[in-house]
Amino acid sequence: MEKRDSTSSIAIKNKKHHMKFLQRLLAVLLVIAAMGIKAQVSPDAKPMTIGSDSYRMKSFIDALMKKMTLEEKIGQLNLPGAGDIITGGQVSEDKSAIADKIRKGKVGGLFNIKGVEKIRYVQDLAAKESRLKIPLIFGMDVIHGYETIFPIPLGLSCSWDMKLIERSAQIAASEASANGICWTFSPMVDIARDPRWGRIAEGSGEDAYLGSQIAKAMVKGYQGDLSKNNNIMACVKHYALYGAAEAGRDYNTTDMSYPRMFNEYLPPYKAAVDAGVGSVMASFNDVNGIPATANKFLMTDVLRKQWGFKGFVVTDYTGINEMEAHGLGDLKTVSALALKAGIDMDMVGEGFLTTLQQSLKEGKVTQMDIDNACRLVLEAKYKLGLFSNPYKYCDENRAKKEVFSDANRAEARNIAADCFVLLKNQNNLLPLKKAGTIALIGPLADAKENMPGTWSVAANFSKAISVLQGLNETVGNPANGGAKLLYAKGSFLDDDSVFEQRAGMFGKSFSRDGRTKEQLLQEALNIAAQCDVVIAALGESAEMSGESSSRSNIEIPQAQKDLLAAVLKTGKPVVLVLFTGRPLAIKWENDNVPAILNVWFGGSEAGYAISDVLFGDVNPSGKLTTTWPQNVGQVPLYYNHKSTGRPLPEGQWFQKFRSNYLDVSNDPVYPFGYGLSYTSFSYSDVKLSTTSPKGNQTLTASVTVTNIGSKDGKEVVQLYIHDVVGANTRPVKELKGFEKIELKAGESKAVSFNITTADLKYYHADMKYDWEPGEFEIMIGGNSRDVKSAKVNWSK
Ligand code: BGC
Repeated sequence: MEKRDSTSSIAIKNKKHHMKFLQRLLAVLLVIAAMGIKAQVSPDAKPMTIGSDSYRMKSFIDALMKKMTLEEKIGQLNLPGAGDIITGGQVSEDKSAIADKIRKGKVGGLFNIKGVEKIRYVQDLAAKESRLKIPLIFGMDVIHGYETIFPIPLGLSCSWDMKLIERSAQIAASEASANGICWTFSPMVDIARDPRWGRIAEGSGEDAYLGSQIAKAMVKGYQGDLSKNNNIMACVKHYALYGAAEAGRDYNTTDMSYPRMFNEYLPPYKAAVDAGVGSVMASFNDVNGIPATANKFLMTDVLRKQWGFKGFVVTDYTGINEMEAHGLGDLKTVSALALKAGIDMDMVGEGFLTTLQQSLKEGKVTQMDIDNACRLVLEAKYKLGLFSNPYKYCDENRAKKEVFSDANRAEARNIAADCFVLLKNQNNLLPLKKAGTIALIGPLADAKENMPGTWSVAANFSKAISVLQGLNETVGNPANGGAKLLYAKGSFLDDDSVFEQRAGMFGKSFSRDGRTKEQLLQEALNIAAQCDVVIAALGESAEMSGESSSRSNIEIPQAQKDLLAAVLKTGKPVVLVLFTGRPLAIKWENDNVPAILNVWFGGSEAGYAISDVLFGDVNPSGKLTTTWPQNVGQVPLYYNHKSTGRPLPEGQWFQKFRSNYLDVSNDPVYPFGYGLSYTSFSYSDVKLSTTSPKGNQTLTASVTVTNIGSKDGKEVVQLYIHDVVGANTRPVKELKGFEKIELKAGESKAVSFNITTADLKYYHADMKYDWEPGEFEIMIGGNSRDVKSAKVNWSK
């Protein structure tokens, strides 16, 4: 739940009651649909008033479609990549062939093209040279910034700051839209509980509630008011359950019960739809035996009929063609299956373009199927205003002024600092003094190309700020009252260069350092000997997470661990500045290194932001949105698990015949919601407005949070609820609300959460969506483990 005003909460309750009844009805129909019986749910058919925007759009598209040939209609469903940026295995054909197709009306949109001049040129082919002059839609993976790059999404989520996240999307949209892009393949909202999966970096972590809030913020940030030229259409992805890939191996199978799907994985996609997202991208994986791309249950029954989605659905890169490898038939068969399931646009593979005419002749698809898809693509262009002005998003002057502007970079620096998570700070080693001699070591210290992280396809890598540069410019000058900074690389990224060789998805190349491992280490030890403190910039390189970057070992590569161990042996205090795109297994580091600051991949200004936090100009306030395991064998490890019938008593490692391991405790190294600050906060006991709420009554739970340290700071106050007795097994706790507050040293603030039965409902095994009266535990704290708790008995 969001922190909300109790009067407005009560006011909307009646409406909610009716809504919930309808939802329940739909849920039942959904199960019927899932069982293969045709659901009798009709799409929400609002009456369209003459003169309304939607009436004008319909009339315009009706008239246009009357003029279109079948070939032109199918053309609108075709989305080739332009090949300027490589984001998938099969690169589209040569540019002159694409140009020819555009002139013939065989292309609806284009992606992987960068630059306003190029886009203007290609738009000319469509808007001036094709028969019906239908403009193209231009897409791009603007995932966490355009040229000004913000932290990777997993990092952004750790800010728990919805305004900040929305703002990052707004800036990304304004830069991209000046440069010709009107459609982004973001937000990625896949819930992920398996850190082996490299794409965990692209999402908002393991929690459906937090993920839903972030999905909304991102859609709002990108789309704002689409009539303006500095907003772009969002595309929520990857629908659905892509993050539940078995064994964390990318593109792998997902198989899941419906209650888990609807309670724990689908809410963020739905939140994006509720926020008005303009498009949806199908995921590569199969879901309970049917690839998402041909999954009518997902694409039509849930997305359109249950959730009322009105936009268009695009496949992921060659998603249709890949159904041949999934074993569903030849290209003609799978293309027809995709269209029938509810896919409207075909990315890269041209299955629609090359087979739909034949499938229509054979009766495998209908004219109506093609018309519906074509209409939805045209509607998107209409909503973006491309019919009125195909060049609406091509503004060279705005691009020059706004893209990678000083103002945007300054915001990126502040945003990045708010996403870092302080994992350990023994004896308040941090913040460091801007004095003395500092040894900066590690293969990621002088690695500007690494700072933007995965999926930053439009980034200007050479302008990103490395840790070395950031520290040098901010504190590395004794003449200006700063510190003396010494630098040595210290080790390779990994000894056998597996990661270096396999990196490079986005066209980056790496050259191997000519020095030996021993030479590198010696250089680091030499500077460590001269310094007061060592900063070790270690962890993953950007390419070790993201697409097609799953790992079976989620530790820091051994070469870097060896360096860290050797430096620790010198006895100098060591601060680990940890780069990563996933939760890592860093138990050894946590046991041995005095201070650890997790900086994810902080974007173009990361080097400055890291300096801001290390030296105390910014007090860290990020909190983890994933659980960090002790070792990979505990995976999947997530905070909102079930109790089991044989739970391990709290505080214990092992008991025979209990749910545990012989060789590792059930505990994580860092729980969900965890993160330290340079100050500390105390929580009062939880105060409840009543311990026996009834029916639709609103329960208020409050705590007083006090900053008991000596620095001003921010704290994320988190509300969790446990349904103690239910008809179904329930998670041990679930996040239901949070608020990020700012407290001056010594200051106290009361934080209250209003809880209604809407927060207690869940999809039961029979897909009934309801709550049950009885006992509930209300927990509030600064992370999912350390909470104050109180109980209520909620009656009907
Ligand atoms: C990825 C998508 C991305 C698309 C277009 C695919 O490989 O899975 O997330 O949007 O490429 O670049």
